[in-house]
Amino acid sequence: MTQQLIDFYRFVGNQDCDRKAVATVKIKKGQVIKNINFVFSPQNFLTVQAGFDKHILDELLAAMNHSCSPTAFVNLAKKQIIAERDIAPGEEITFFYPSTEWIMVRPFQCKCGSPNCIGKVSGAEDLPISLLKKYEINSHIKQSILESIYKKR
Ligand SMILES: [Zn+2]
Repeated sequence: MTQQLIDFYRFVGNQDCDRKAVATVKIKKGQVIKNINFVFSPQNFLTVQAGFDKHILDELLAAMNHSCSPTAFVNLAKKQIIAERDIAPGEEITFFYPSTEWIMVRPFQCKCGSPNCIGKVSGAEDLPISLLKKYEINSHIKQSILESIYKKR
């Protein structure tokens, strides 16, 4: 079963920075691309935030680039990477980094080319709630938003 799931994607590029994940087959919206095995790690630019002070390191997640119009959603409650829309073979598998990251260790200027590109990607903390509302985001980020509203009062 694990073997079958691996067939949904492959890695392109060798180094951590230029590596990306692309679909090898047509992936339907809602399809589970991968079940995530939680391996906790200190936060770095390859980890994904999985809770208030929890970060996980996963080979596919580490390779997935950010997009402001992502093809996948990282559902941490279900521990699954799920197709956000139909993905064609050869198309990149991406996710919206602020859907998991509150504060990123390595912010960058997004060049995803999406008409709704957010520009600087540094984590959900720096984004207006009106923008975050347009995306599916994980519960620890929603909780952090609520806490930040409370602190500002
Ligand atoms: Zn963008």
